[in-house]
Amino acid sequence: MHFYRAEPTARTSWRLAILMGANSRTYKFALGSALLDFGREGRDSITLNELGQAYARHLLARDGGAAQAPTSSRMSDTDFLAVLEREREESVAIRQPTEKLVDAATRAIPLMVMQKFHNLRDIGQVAHTFYRLEGRGRDRHVRLTPALRDVAAESSGLTSELGARWSIVEASFDAEIGRRLLESGVELGADLTDVVVPIRRVPVTGLRSAIAGFQHGRCFYCRMPLAESAANGGDDPYAGRDVHVDHVVPYSWMKSGSWRGPNLNHLWNLVLACASCNLRKSARQPTASELETLLERNNAIANSPHPLRRTIDITMSASGPDAAVRRKQFMVAVQNTITDGRPTCSPV
Ligand SMILES: [Zn+2]
Repeated sequence: MHFYRAEPTARTSWRLAILMGANSRTYKFALGSALLDFGREGRDSITLNELGQAYARHLLARDGGAAQAPTSSRMSDTDFLAVLEREREESVAIRQPTEKLVDAATRAIPLMVMQKFHNLRDIGQVAHTFYRLEGRGRDRHVRLTPALRDVAAESSGLTSELGARWSIVEASFDAEIGRRLLESGVELGADLTDVVVPIRRVPVTGLRSAIAGFQHGRCFYCRMPLAESAANGGDDPYAGRDVHVDHVVPYSWMKSGSWRGPNLNHLWNLVLACASCNLRKSARQPTASELETLLERNNAIANSPHPLRRTIDITMSASGPDAAVRRKQFMVAVQNTITDGRPTCSPV
């Protein structure tokens, strides 16, 4: 898979698991959050009970009304999410997951989410694994791998990518807005800060955290890690003022009326760049290789289930079985529009 070959690191394996795995529940985000916690602490082995506690805590920390499974999915009394709902009130009151909830988590996660985390439907197991179950019976424990500690050591960006992804998947599960998101994709807030629900304009999550992972957390142009350049981001390194949303094909061409191609103010044309690259680039014409990299980034988004993919499908007119070919044709058409009808407007 191109996304992995472009940067064959543990971070990329992590992003494949988080961003591109299928979701019928949000369990893998809770597991991922718990793993990052233990990895950051430098732990190499934890008990299943410790993992169950952290896992339940992360699920409880989500907004109580947020759907963790499609609202249409049938749920039995023993479903972990049903237990979570029953134990929520008391857990909130005692400020930690109840024993019943931790028990249920500890029993459920080895069978459920731990088996699936590393496995992607289309490409199989990711190249780096982050844990394995060892021992039997009472000695059963979770061995955390060096790959996890590597990833966790520089996890600020990965944490906000995970949070953004979790919010997007929750929104797609939501009874009121989920169907619209899955049909129409997300839209972007007017100032390109947020990903929003069409028509109702409800923010789902930050745009920059939502798309950073699909360009490996790096500036689109100089490849410098964005999280490191954004010292002012607080909890969310991508929210710092040093991370810019950039139009690869200059938006000024469209505003001046000289552009004859597709809408330039949409996801297919938006990438993240460090401040200096963005300012240096200004309204210059993108190179052929930049357009190729943009296609690869868009292909990566198109391989992630749920609303962001839908947005790419719609804005690149590329759904259905030939979608990959159509995305390529779309970019060829963009390239042709640039060379045939080069805008006459002068660079800013
Ligand atoms: Zn840069």
